[in-house]
Amino acid sequence: MNSESGEFDLFVIGGGSGGVRAARVAAALGARVGLAEERYFGGTCVNVGCVPKKLMSYAAHYRDDFEDSRGFGWQAGSPIFDWSVFMANKTKEINRLEEIYRNMLEVAGVTLFKQRARLSGAGKIQVGRHTLRARYILIATGGWPWVPPFPGHELAITSNDLFTLKQLPGEIAIVGGGYIAVEFASILSRLGCRTRLVYRGGSLLNGFDQELRERFTTELANSLPLHLGCNIKKIANRDKRLLVSLDDGSELLADAVLTATGRRPNTADLGLEAAGIQVSDRGAITVGDDFQTSATGVFAVGDVIDRVQLTPVALAEGEIVARQLFATESPTMSYDNVPSTVFSIPNVATVGLTESQAVDRGYQVKTFSASVKQLKHTLSERQERCFIKLVVDSSSDRVLGLHMMGPDAGEIVQGFAVAMNCGATKRDFDRTIGIHPTLAEELVTMRKNEKSHG
Ligand code: NDP
Repeated sequence: MNSESGEFDLFVIGGGSGGVRAARVAAALGARVGLAEERYFGGTCVNVGCVPKKLMSYAAHYRDDFEDSRGFGWQAGSPIFDWSVFMANKTKEINRLEEIYRNMLEVAGVTLFKQRARLSGAGKIQVGRHTLRARYILIATGGWPWVPPFPGHELAITSNDLFTLKQLPGEIAIVGGGYIAVEFASILSRLGCRTRLVYRGGSLLNGFDQELRERFTTELANSLPLHLGCNIKKIANRDKRLLVSLDDGSELLADAVLTATGRRPNTADLGLEAAGIQVSDRGAITVGDDFQTSATGVFAVGDVIDRVQLTPVALAEGEIVARQLFATESPTMSYDNVPSTVFSIPNVATVGLTESQAVDRGYQVKTFSASVKQLKHTLSERQERCFIKLVVDSSSDRVLGLHMMGPDAGEIVQGFAVAMNCGATKRDFDRTIGIHPTLAEELVTMRKNEKSHG
């Protein structure tokens, strides 16, 4: 960097997944890079998202493991979960990771500003009292939980707050039916918090394959009460608790209400308008294929552009911008076959097209599906079912979509995502030898339950 003159080749606003990746890659390619982050390095993923959530999910899984162990001959008393021990250990680990992120940037030679930054004219960034100049600017400010404006919404918490709660609530109502709602419904119910889920639709996980959604909704209903087809109307204080009124006329009492009703791009007070940067109706920064905004030299990646709100996507986008600008390469981003996992219990994982997406795109579709009980649960007597489904193009035999509900679905689907990117056909799946006995082998032994349309 040239800190004396405050001039950079690239200035990144936001030190989350996309921003950090772009800064490190650009610095490694010899660029003078500055990065401003007002809150925490590593962004939502490291601090109030993927990583602490996954740690919480591990904690939650023990409840089922303790229960399942009895059928295998283990005897133990009633296990007790101590929220304060978990939170102290979780916080220590997250602080360690945040520090690692900061160090990685410093070691890469990135000049850090632990401050808010905003655009202040062509190639100019205001950081505190300083005006810095950069050839290119990258906005990677992520997203923020969005809460519907119902009366009493300020009494609700969001996923951001969950990670710092001093106590596990005795009873919680969760509003929403997407990733965050079902993940925390699964987690909190296992940790000993009486959990109810309120969702305006009929099947959870909108956007996923419909059959998978229905199977998952049935499965989740076995472990906690679901209030489907209704929405939150208002929240009011009632005797140190919260009274939640739903639009079907029913009322719930809870110690906390978690709204998990989507995340919106974080674009407030960035100076976008003055810089001539266009945003969509949802407030997302509009970018082209090269991630350049409507202002020349200003780029944006990650949740702030609201294409696919996933950490690995932001990482890929950040790297592409850095390489486009500072390497003699022109990498492009493909949003095909982006795999994702919902860390609910059971996990849901998916890659490629849902059945209805494939039909809408004009494919002659045939599907293969199976609902199976894991070998483990023959002795544990847990009633949980696993579900797997392949969506196949009849004319080319290509596997267009793979959908799964079951333990470690994310670990399994990650590998299959590679095969799908290589254009694997159903015949390729069929000639692959299974690993026995596993759940994953079901994916290469599906000959039955074929359904065709298109
Ligand atoms: P989602 O978009 O997944 O889900 C939002 C939910 O809120 C939907 O069920 C939606 O209903 C509902 N909703 C929206 N508006 C309202 C409203 N006005 N009243 C009542 N309900 C409403 O968002 P999340 O907040 O769960 O997560 C944000 C994003 O973060 C995810 O989409 C995902 O990309 C990412 N994420 C990824 C994770 C992972 O990879 N494991 C984990 C957590 C988050 P409807 O379905 O009817 O529209």
